[in-house]
Amino acid sequence: MESLPFALPEFLPGHVWLVGAGPGDPGLLSLLALHALRHADVVVYDALVDRRVLDLIRDGAERVDVGKRGGTPSPKQPEISDKLVTLARRGLRVLRLKGGDPFLFGRGSEEAAALRAAETPFRVVPGITSGIAGPAYAGIPVTSRDVNSAVTFITGHDGDGDVPRSLDWAAISRASPVLVFYMALRRLAPISRELIAAGRPASQPVAVICEATTERQTVLETTLERLAEDVASHGLKPPAIVVVGDVVRLRSLLDWH
Ligand code: SAH
Repeated sequence: MESLPFALPEFLPGHVWLVGAGPGDPGLLSLLALHALRHADVVVYDALVDRRVLDLIRDGAERVDVGKRGGTPSPKQPEISDKLVTLARRGLRVLRLKGGDPFLFGRGSEEAAALRAAETPFRVVPGITSGIAGPAYAGIPVTSRDVNSAVTFITGHDGDGDVPRSLDWAAISRASPVLVFYMALRRLAPISRELIAAGRPASQPVAVICEATTERQTVLETTLERLAEDVASHGLKPPAIVVVGDVVRLRSLLDWH
């Protein structure tokens, strides 16, 4: 990093950097993320952070795994936030590493708010989100001028694990030609049902990208009406991104991976 023609900010003791680790491929890390990995005293990371990214943590740094994966017990959010504050108060350089982007369905805002409340200085380093990189690694652009001028990122479940009740399916269906779902694999039947009821064609193309940008990436192309059944019959498992919309057709032209 010494050879860069510009200076990166110093990672100061007692500060927390809230950093997006990207979707998997370590080549998608930002320079700031790499800088943080090389200078942190302690790294607090989630389940979705790729092993190859963790391999970049400097020797001698402490590692704290606060990962949660589909239902298994894990530290509660307030405990994670408290941990960050405690570590920073010990004068450590604290790297909070999250999959994808920390502010997109990553609860990064809650941690940042807790740091602010505790008067702990922090920096946010955005990451490449799986909802853009996953489709890109499958040859699917989330926008294309002839297809859509809007795209919506949607979470497939709320705090209770249900499809969020606050979603206005009719409005979303009408206004956003392309929908990118996170955390949706276990809720595909109600999601397709809602979208079709709201007017999306049952034959609309859908892509499901599992473990995007890793060596284990798989892509399933299907339609809204067949979505839940096809995902079940292929035994697909999270993490997965689900893209709904005509941009999926571009894959036949743009698949490069
Ligand atoms: N902040 C993250 C999202 C966290 S929510 C981001 O910006 O990417 C967790 C969800 O992200 C997973 O359930 C899945 O839908 C998605 N996800 C994260 N990494 C993924 C990957 N490598 N491949 C497919 N989906 C992924």
